[in-house]
Amino acid sequence: MESPVTVFTQIPDFLDYLGSDLATTIAKTTALANLDLNPKFPFLCSRHYADLIKKANDPAALLCEILPTKDELKKVDGFVDDPVGDLPAGKSDCVIQKYDQRALIVSTATCGARCRFCFRKNYPFQNTPDVARQVSHWLNTHTDVWEVILSGGDPLTLGPGAFRELIEAIAMHPSVTTLRIHTRLPVMHPDLVMQHFELLRELPARFSCVLVSHVDHADELDEESATVFAQLRFSGWTLLNQSVLLRGISDDAAKLNALCRKLFEQGVLPYYLHQLDHANGVAHFEVSDDEARKLIAEIRTKLPGYLVPKLVREIAGEKSKTPI
Ligand SMILES: *Cc1c(COP(=O)(O)O)cnc(C)c1O
Ligand code: SF4
Repeated sequence: MESPVTVFTQIPDFLDYLGSDLATTIAKTTALANLDLNPKFPFLCSRHYADLIKKANDPAALLCEILPTKDELKKVDGFVDDPVGDLPAGKSDCVIQKYDQRALIVSTATCGARCRFCFRKNYPFQNTPDVARQVSHWLNTHTDVWEVILSGGDPLTLGPGAFRELIEAIAMHPSVTTLRIHTRLPVMHPDLVMQHFELLRELPARFSCVLVSHVDHADELDEESATVFAQLRFSGWTLLNQSVLLRGISDDAAKLNALCRKLFEQGVLPYYLHQLDHANGVAHFEVSDDEARKLIAEIRTKLPGYLVPKLVREIAGEKSKTPI
């Protein structure tokens, strides 16, 4: 028996799965009128995300996040391949350290989907075969590092064995007291998060644990993400969210408001709202700083202070994210 499709790699199959009602939505959405069926940064979407699109109030927003368009081919001044200076900050194949006493690990090149606005879209991503050993080796000589951030790609796409091996390698270094995971899987592949649950549940006994989800639109949150977040919170994880401010997706005070409130309903606090990193091929998602400030000012009048994310940008070479 064929196993059910869990990811789509071909746009026509994906559109077939969405069905004809959504095809009409797509045709009507100006940004999607120029689909690129053969993009340089490949198309990838989970079936779970396709199902979210099917039940979304605002399917066009979610579609814009994952459907490649010809806008990505435009060369725009100031948009480059490595906008956040990852390459000069790479300390070994998979460790990036930009900030004092904190390190980020590119634990895998795999993601649950390919987001069209990805800042690492042109990054020479590759899977490092021996991440755990490299990280351990690096931490041996960097005993001042107390926070280790697992990023990617998406660290939760690692198989349970590789994921455990990486965590064990980090846990051998007593200087590391905080473990942080950045992931989009609670909205892309909630079932894959659950496969790590036994380990995730044990971790708060060994580290202070922070999970930063990447959710950009309220329609990405459903009962399944709620279950994942509830289980993590129950196990002792601190849950935060970061979003990217995106033209046509979240550049609207009502949408941001809905996102922040729904995150909180699921036990997650808004952390950052990022201005877009200027990677080649993402310029059409840009929202100006002035507009961004206005949006934040507007949601500040509608939400409690703890639900208003910090508006920031990452500037290569700076020692922290920069408030706008
Ligand atoms: C963004 C980032 C961090 C985390 O920064 P916070 O402001 O603590 O969220 C750490 N390391 C690198 C390389 C980063 O890009
Ligand atoms: S999940 Fe993150 S790293 Fe992966 S494509 Fe999306 S934005 Fe890029």
